[in-house]
Amino acid sequence: MADTIFKKIINKEIPADIVFESETVLAFRDINPKAPTHILIIPKLEIPTVRELNGKEHGPLLGEMIDAANLIAKNEEISADGFRLVFNCGNNGGQEVYHLHMHLLGGRQMTWPAG
Ligand code: AMP
Repeated sequence: MADTIFKKIINKEIPADIVFESETVLAFRDINPKAPTHILIIPKLEIPTVRELNGKEHGPLLGEMIDAANLIAKNEEISADGFRLVFNCGNNGGQEVYHLHMHLLGGRQMTWPAG
């Protein structure tokens, strides 16, 4: 199967504005931002969607993604005012890239319900 665009970013085959990297997690700015701060937090492990996740196996990895989100939100100075974390899953969820990613959105008032 062909590599996703995010796998190519992990492999540094295509550039990205990386704001955080650890052994297991990578975070970079969304190329088409929907808020003043819009960062994608991804596991380096290839997991296509939320559907493939289970708490027992992936709990620690998800915890690392949340830790990264909190650290980045502080660095971006959006933590105190609040922010939104989003996983889109599958077709109806509006997922475009089939490598698991968590959107970190902030820097403006979010509306609800999401579109
Ligand atoms: P989703 O719709 O949840 O799958 O979100 C995919 C996100 O990836 C979208 O917000 C795109 O703007 C973003 N995106 C696609 N290609 C790139 C890229 N090369 N670098 C950064 N963000 C990207």
